[in-house]
Amino acid sequence: MKPKTSNCPICQGSSLKPIDEHEPVYWQCADCEYLFLEPSDRLQKASEKSRYEEHNNDLGDPKYLQYLEKTWQKISQDVPPGGLVVDYGCGPTKGLEAVLKGQGFQVVSYDPIFYPTSVEILNHKVDAIYCSEAIEHMYNPIVEIECWLRLLKPGGMISLRTAFHSGENGFRSWWYKDDPTHIGFFNEQTFQWLANRYSLEVCHMHSPYASFRKKAQ
Ligand SMILES: [Zn+2]
Repeated sequence: MKPKTSNCPICQGSSLKPIDEHEPVYWQCADCEYLFLEPSDRLQKASEKSRYEEHNNDLGDPKYLQYLEKTWQKISQDVPPGGLVVDYGCGPTKGLEAVLKGQGFQVVSYDPIFYPTSVEILNHKVDAIYCSEAIEHMYNPIVEIECWLRLLKPGGMISLRTAFHSGENGFRSWWYKDDPTHIGFFNEQTFQWLANRYSLEVCHMHSPYASFRKKAQ
């Protein structure tokens, strides 16, 4: 059995092993520990969109806003007043805009399906990237992370929310992988690998949160 991609989508390592003999196949990288669904088993794009529309993203629900705010709190002290923040992969609603309303921050909501805003014009102008429950959906997280690093000013912050995997043990009964649009899973080792690769300072790392600072040149 071989993955259609013969290298890890994160570190490009070639030591990929299936986590067990069951279907669908999930591969884990022996180097960075990224764990991902066999690419040929991903949903079709149209099914993905309808699945995202089922997500419960009700901006009238204070609990949903509190949930979004927790990821913001991990970096809120490090973003200057009036700072520019990109809610990257916001989904069908502009959640962070609602959370930060009236606080003086500028928020750009981006989502490749629902708000395909051109963010490239913000290169080197952004104070923070906020990415809540989106990185586990990405086909090629490296492309997105490299985009974040172009957008961010030196010293800019990244705040992520995604549940960390615990490897093959218990993976088949892990609820988080049952959303068919969740295709790639990180753990501390994976995030540490990314921090080393891109010279990021790790500010916080405890599932489901990870935050980083882009080092000043
Ligand atoms: Zn890897």
